[in-house]
Amino acid sequence: MLGGFEVFSMKIFLSLYLFVAVILTQFFAAYFFSKGKNSYRKIFSAFILCVGVYLFGYLMIINSSNLQELIFWNQIQYLGLPFISVLWLTVALLYTKTIYTLSRRMTVVLFFVPVITFFIRLTNSWHHLFYTNWGVKQFFGFYSLHMERGFWYFVHISHTILCLFLTIIIYYLGYRKKMSGYTKPQFMVFFFASLLPLIGIILILFAYDKWIIDYSALIMPISILIIGYGILKYDFLEIKALARETVFENSLDGMMILESGLRLIDYNQAAKDFFKALNISLDNYPIEHLFNQEPELLEIFKSETTQEFSVMIDGEERFFEISALPLGIPHDRKTRMFKSIRDITEKKKVQEKLTILATIDSLSGLYNRAEFMKLAQRELSLAKRHNKRSSLLMIDVDHFKNINDTFGHAAGDEVIRKMGNTIMTSFRKTDFAGRLGGEEFAVLLRDTSLDEAKGAAKKFLETVSRIKVIYEQQEISFTVSIGVAAIYGDINNSSSIEDILKKADDALYKAKAKGRNCVAVYRSSET
Ligand code: GH3
Ligand code: MG
Ligand code: MG
Repeated sequence: MLGGFEVFSMKIFLSLYLFVAVILTQFFAAYFFSKGKNSYRKIFSAFILCVGVYLFGYLMIINSSNLQELIFWNQIQYLGLPFISVLWLTVALLYTKTIYTLSRRMTVVLFFVPVITFFIRLTNSWHHLFYTNWGVKQFFGFYSLHMERGFWYFVHISHTILCLFLTIIIYYLGYRKKMSGYTKPQFMVFFFASLLPLIGIILILFAYDKWIIDYSALIMPISILIIGYGILKYDFLEIKALARETVFENSLDGMMILESGLRLIDYNQAAKDFFKALNISLDNYPIEHLFNQEPELLEIFKSETTQEFSVMIDGEERFFEISALPLGIPHDRKTRMFKSIRDITEKKKVQEKLTILATIDSLSGLYNRAEFMKLAQRELSLAKRHNKRSSLLMIDVDHFKNINDTFGHAAGDEVIRKMGNTIMTSFRKTDFAGRLGGEEFAVLLRDTSLDEAKGAAKKFLETVSRIKVIYEQQEISFTVSIGVAAIYGDINNSSSIEDILKKADDALYKAKAKGRNCVAVYRSSET
């Protein structure tokens, strides 16, 4: 026999435990309900609420002193009790994504027995289908109800056990199915958290008569704490994964993940759009198959460096930068690769514009002085290396000052513009020209001897003499003088491009001196 103090402290201890548990369940229920974004959270909240009612009933039972009170609080317990296990099962179904929503049919199947239990317990005094008889037993100094169980009690308890059993199986299968991932350990925790009340119920069934303690009432708060913690932790991870997934899916850059052996294992919408434009469907996983029509792309995708790729899409040339990032441990042969496809067309266009601004003279449309000198220097080196002859023309408009003075500066500009145009169309595609400044131009004629260059210059002279620039209804005619020099061949091999330009300028000076509108050639023998 236990002493008075122990009996008293046992009752106090149990009451305190239940009291704290009830407070906690109410807090949890409110918290999960307010954060009930996922469907299972609302159901989890309902589940905790039912457990709370059940625990509160048990707290009051322990502290009751007569049969009337005991029966009343037992009835209170059954306002929540019938639904606990089925709600627990529903949480498991939704949480493991075994089902995604609770259909009406599913609800009827699951909640049929609990609802009947609810009403049968409520009306037990009329038919005694649940409890056939009541009695009071005393244990550890507090009263407990001793009931003789009726037919429906066994239906109810079978349903409860079945639900808990299914819950355990669902968590176990979820754990097995999810071979990896952050939710895997959670499923195992939930598995054990659900196993605990099942043990409690089995204890009630087989040992209640002896001890008259509701073991599940004592175990349930622990299970709830474990599951509540698990859900909170899981949801946090879920949001993180969701955020990453969202970024991946919605990125404007195409993203692809290639397994070793270059099999495509994941890709986002932008990647799909990119390949759709190339008439490639990403359904066929090995990239050798995907790109069998595009050998260039295949090489780029095999490569681990950043490469550029251009393609015509809807009649417009678009540029893509395809870069690679190894995923996983370096030196591991199973390394996966992350490929990103970035549309750099706009960047390219801006770059092109900048290049044009930096190299082209806007008035004449020819190269500016710096760019012409760069290209001419390159040509000189090539000519030296391959022992080729090329020639340089220096063209200057005659009495340009007069044009400015007579027709205005804008008219002069118009003449410069026309000169650029005429130069561009008068020489071969392989030749190139630049505006060196003012109304002075230079043309480099590739693979052209001095005599051939002189011929070309004379022809150009004639072309210019036929030009009439119309400016504000006035016709402007003009002539040019041209100096010709050899890039390489007749002259000193060590000449720089500046030297050659100087020589062409000397020849030009001679042409001006001869009376303009003529061609003069610089010959080394003449020096
Ligand atoms: P010459 O036959 O001896 O070459 O006589 P010229 O009048 O052409 O003499 P010069 O080459 O010295 O004169 C160039 C003039 O071109 C001087 C300048 O005012 C004018 N000029 C220079 N750049 C521009 C320009 O961009 N637009 C216009 N309209 N005039 C320019
Ligand atoms: Mg001039
Ligand atoms: Mg000049």
